[in-house]
Amino acid sequence: MAKRDYYDILGVSRGASEDEIKKAYRKMAIKYHPDKNPGDKAAEESFKEAAEAYEVLSKPDKRQRYDQFGHAANAQSANGGGYGGGGMNMDDIFSQFGDIFGGGGSPFESFFGGGGGRQQGGRRVARGSNLRIKVRLTLEEIANGVEKKIKVNKQVLCKTCDGTGAKDQSSFSTCKTCGGSGAVRRVTNTILGQMQTTSTCPTCNGEGSTITSKCNVCHGDGVVRGEETISINIPAGVSEGMQLSMSGKGNAAPRGGVPGDLIILIEEVPHETLKRDGNNVIYDLHINFVDAALGTSIEVPTIDGKAKIKIEPGTQGGKVLRLKGKGVPEVNSYHRGDQLVHINIWTPKALSREERETLEKLQNSPNFKPNPGKNEKSFFERMKEYFE
Ligand SMILES: [Zn+2]
Ligand SMILES: [Zn+2]
Repeated sequence: MAKRDYYDILGVSRGASEDEIKKAYRKMAIKYHPDKNPGDKAAEESFKEAAEAYEVLSKPDKRQRYDQFGHAANAQSANGGGYGGGGMNMDDIFSQFGDIFGGGGSPFESFFGGGGGRQQGGRRVARGSNLRIKVRLTLEEIANGVEKKIKVNKQVLCKTCDGTGAKDQSSFSTCKTCGGSGAVRRVTNTILGQMQTTSTCPTCNGEGSTITSKCNVCHGDGVVRGEETISINIPAGVSEGMQLSMSGKGNAAPRGGVPGDLIILIEEVPHETLKRDGNNVIYDLHINFVDAALGTSIEVPTIDGKAKIKIEPGTQGGKVLRLKGKGVPEVNSYHRGDQLVHINIWTPKALSREERETLEKLQNSPNFKPNPGKNEKSFFERMKEYFE
């Protein structure tokens, strides 16, 4: 992972537009491209560093997170929540080029194309498709973050041919269209005179060779259906409908291509007694009017287990008690919501004769006459407090 600031790496200001970032990266990519600096380790490092910076700053959501948390947040949630910019390999970097240099025949292709011995820089790299899965999480898992090991059905590289799609080493023959260079040149007449452009060979897709006899297992595809157990680190605080992505964990791509991404869709399993409201958790507590009048201490469920709360003598229905920090954390933050205990006064629906007689004695007692004075909060005030 780069240690320098991503904006410094690309030499742009923090307020740079998407277009400025793209231009800056294009300049760096051309300057430090390995084809242009063979064997130069420092150039290769600069090349990778620029690619990583571009990977983060070119994506609005990643850029926003980077602006907010810097490099630290990336380390905090390497999977899913992070930027996915760290540890890019050359294939990832070259696959980015499609976005910034456009398709075949671009200036970039002609820059690096030309003759044999060229690397993947100008070649169209096959990319595996993205894979989508759903993950169901309990409220406890959401509050604490969780590592899920999930068996995923996906396209994997064919082991028999090692993803080449060919029966064996002798099953390749040099492409007749391009003569093995992987590129074709085309001369076009323009108002500025003759222009020569180089583009990817359409017959072999830039590979320089074609397959004469296909692998028996994958029938030339290079990939087969398979299974992989993937361990997914889900950061605390995610919510229903949120999507996390793990780059390179989707379907495999044949012939040295780049695998797709794994997209994880979050689903919440409803909790039996607690209800989530953003980062807060709501619990509906029912106490009888005797407990409300005399006061008591009572256990309530929370995400972290049971907690004892104190009911003051003379507690009114509608009161909300706040258990600080007993809610759900915010993603990529140390802030945690609260648990709100909503107090309801339970009135008995059926009475024995003895209970009835006791209550009848109290019915006209002066203290039992409702008398909401200035100290009692109105419904409106309670709601305001509740949503604060
Ligand atoms: Zn060809
Ligand atoms: Zn095969």
